[in-house]
Amino acid sequence: MNGLINSLAIIGVGLIGSSLALSLKQSGYVKRVTGYGRSEASLQKGLELGVLDDYSLSLTDAVSAADVVIVAVPLGAMAGVFKQMQPALKATAIVSDVGSVKASVVQDARAGLADAFVRFVPGHPIAGSEHSGVEAGFASLYQGRKTILTPLEETSGDALQVIDAMWRATGALVENMDVDHHDRVLAATSHLPHMLAFSLVSHLSKLSEQDEIFDYAAGGFRDFTRIASSDPVMWRDICLANGSALLELIDGFKAELDQISGSIRGQNPDALLEFFRHSKHTRDQLRNL
Ligand code: NAD
Repeated sequence: MNGLINSLAIIGVGLIGSSLALSLKQSGYVKRVTGYGRSEASLQKGLELGVLDDYSLSLTDAVSAADVVIVAVPLGAMAGVFKQMQPALKATAIVSDVGSVKASVVQDARAGLADAFVRFVPGHPIAGSEHSGVEAGFASLYQGRKTILTPLEETSGDALQVIDAMWRATGALVENMDVDHHDRVLAATSHLPHMLAFSLVSHLSKLSEQDEIFDYAAGGFRDFTRIASSDPVMWRDICLANGSALLELIDGFKAELDQISGSIRGQNPDALLEFFRHSKHTRDQLRNL
């Protein structure tokens, strides 16, 4: 493959898969995109929106002519998809994914793809939103955003080059990373913050003054809790797939909250000021945000 991709299959045509397809079609980087999913209505919508050129309700049919297959289903569905598609893949087909946790996907791909595993390139675009489904997709989602690839020792250099070039064609900034490092970093920067947003909204929803509380919620609350609108299935799967990294961070975070409550209980203004100063200083240094 020299640059352009003739035939791309998107497995799971939601926010992430449809945004990738739209971007690559609009730039002319792919000639033909075939979709596979569970709902015909949503695949039909994909045709109408110009995300797909055709679709199939059979996974094996959808991948059989593909040069590149992108698996963009929730993490819990990855194992079944890899296993089911394997017999129908072309001998040269390159497979990649967009899952938010990499060790679990690598394990699923290794088990399901058999000989095709050497042409599997684990990937994760660090872009997205709290919206989901094919209608949420947009072509510029990856522009200027990072995509992390976590190739393994056995990953074919040619396959890596194809997936790297594909993401660059969307305007993404591609970086390679070790699988476990990826999962630890993302647990801290994405998975833990989502847990905080979900638990804050859950906690407030159970207080007796619920209605009044949400009536007086302002910008800070909106900013902090936006991500609690994210898809519950996706987040269930991320928690289970990245459990050990996440549990360690949740325990560490509880200790931070305990420090604040201890300082309040002890009426310790210096400790509170030091705590907030340290966090403000750290946040102010994050010039890329
Ligand atoms: P989405 O819900 O918008 O899309 C997922 C699609 O997969 C849906 O169309 C759903 O019907 C389909 N699907 C579910 N199970 C399936 C199965 N067994 N077979 C075929 N199709 C199936 O979700 P999304 O946000 O596009 O997330 C997709 C993947 O991308 C997930 O693995 C997620 O971890 C990852 N990701 C999400 C974000 C984000 O912010 N949303 C960012 C980066 C990576």
